[in-house]
Amino acid sequence: MVAISKPLHLQGIALAAGIGIGPLFFLSLEAEPFARATDIICEVSEELQRFHYAIELVTNEIKQLQEQQKNEQNDSQESIMLLGSQLQLLRDPVLIADVEEAVEQQQCTAQMALRNVVAEYQKNFLSIGDPFFTERFQDMKDIACRLIAQLQGTTASPFAIMPAQAVVITTALAAAQAIEAAQRGASAFITAQGASASHAAIIAKAKGIPYVSQADINALLGLGNALAVVDGSRGEVFVNPTSTALRHYTALAGQMQRHFDELAEETLWPAQTFDGYHVHLSANIDMISEVQTARQYGCSGIGLFRTEYLFLSEIECPSEAEQHKIYYHAAEQMSQWPIVIRTFDIGGDKLPLFYQGKEERNPFLGCRAIRLLLQQRELFKTQLRAIIRANILGNVSVLFPMISTLTELQQAKELVKEVEKELIQEEQPFISPRIGCMIEVPTAAIIADLLAKECDFLSIGTNDLVQYALAVDRENYLLRELYSPADPGVLRLIKQVALEAHQHDIPVAICGEVAADPRFTPLLLGLGIQEFSVAPRHLPAVKKAIRRAGIVAATQLTDYVLTLGSAREIEAVLETAYQKVLAEELEAVTMNLSQ
Ligand code: PEP
Ligand code: MG
Repeated sequence: MVAISKPLHLQGIALAAGIGIGPLFFLSLEAEPFARATDIICEVSEELQRFHYAIELVTNEIKQLQEQQKNEQNDSQESIMLLGSQLQLLRDPVLIADVEEAVEQQQCTAQMALRNVVAEYQKNFLSIGDPFFTERFQDMKDIACRLIAQLQGTTASPFAIMPAQAVVITTALAAAQAIEAAQRGASAFITAQGASASHAAIIAKAKGIPYVSQADINALLGLGNALAVVDGSRGEVFVNPTSTALRHYTALAGQMQRHFDELAEETLWPAQTFDGYHVHLSANIDMISEVQTARQYGCSGIGLFRTEYLFLSEIECPSEAEQHKIYYHAAEQMSQWPIVIRTFDIGGDKLPLFYQGKEERNPFLGCRAIRLLLQQRELFKTQLRAIIRANILGNVSVLFPMISTLTELQQAKELVKEVEKELIQEEQPFISPRIGCMIEVPTAAIIADLLAKECDFLSIGTNDLVQYALAVDRENYLLRELYSPADPGVLRLIKQVALEAHQHDIPVAICGEVAADPRFTPLLLGLGIQEFSVAPRHLPAVKKAIRRAGIVAATQLTDYVLTLGSAREIEAVLETAYQKVLAEELEAVTMNLSQ
């Protein structure tokens, strides 16, 4: 007799729309998100014990690999020797003593100590310029990666064992995890914690992965790889669905895909309101492969390249050559179209392995983005060199994240000048990039006139602007009612920025998530926004919303909305206006069909 597993239904909160169907896959529930490794320790002795245990585990891991190589038929002598030298390194008394000393002296975690020690070794080894030492360093880097993975309580990649089209379950999903799961073909996310403006949710929406949060994930424990259906539009999860439910959701997924494919026909049309107002429609990307998708969906530029995602799982700071290759390739692929490359927005919930700063009480109010870059000059300069050198065709712009004072912008520009001077001396070819400033902090919006004088364009990051203007953590689900881009205070800030940009004759873009919400399209047009930058997947829907809008009606709607006093009232007005346009469109189609 075949055992029939009992169906289970969970209700959560919808963070990213769509239907996902696949086997359940648990990321470690206890483990902290990978990108949030702490550097505070309780006991030095405990930390040293952890370090030695990690050495033991990695030693076993490598011995196992050696055994596998021995059993292989092909000539694997070289790999066996290489693994042997890694085993030697793991026993190296000098390396072990250096890490122990760093833990004791800096009172930091073993992974932090190891990272610092390896960074020192790197300087010494590579400065010798001998290929033997360069190779030796590669071995050490590999060992350090394995040790850090163990110390973080995870294998090199927990996704390595993820089944195809898995429904990923975890307590809280970090941005780096969302990116990796998306790359490996996850079909949905279910978490206990999370909010719609978190970077993980933004990634899910951008990649079309349904995401349900605030779900009772403990109810899923013990269900193994059971089949699940995730309805990211309604926040529902069905485990072991009945055959009727499975048929229904499979059909619904197909219907949604057809609707998406139909929308993609928008690509053929210009991004222009029906009364002739032209909008610059660009794409937000976080990986190089998205350049092609963005072009395919008819973007007229890349409005935001979030570079920090490229290197989140790198243990070493990415080199200039490594970065240049990516930026140059992206710029070349865009050729006659502009591409805005944002310098690293590291910090907050985005902490790459190569940069684990001090634990901060309020990471979003801490050493993030431009603040961190101005403190880590070498990191900043390396990236600037790579971006500026990529500007051979003249289509690259540099964008600085989280500017809150004029001085920060001036200091960043100084560094650009310094880099350009160096490049000229080195006779490296480049064209000076346009310089842009993100408006994500209320002070930046308030001094938009001063910032506008100093740069070539402004880009409003509403995801953070809402967070900082309303003093509401974008990841805090309990404050979700307060976190609204329709807040009258936020709208006044946007209006002020657009006004100053126009007065200083520079373009102004919106690259926050609100730009992808068709209900907000007329309002943003009425506020004077000329460029919308959204994830490639959202391009067709936003193009359609722009083509449905009229600039005169949008201005009238905006004037009215700006008289209202609460986010709820404004959301209701936008929803009504949106439904009215949809109804009129439907009526027109029906009339056409009946003629
Ligand atoms: C924003 O804050 O609106 C933005 C685009 O930046 P990010 O979402 O990467 O913080
Ligand atoms: Mg931001």
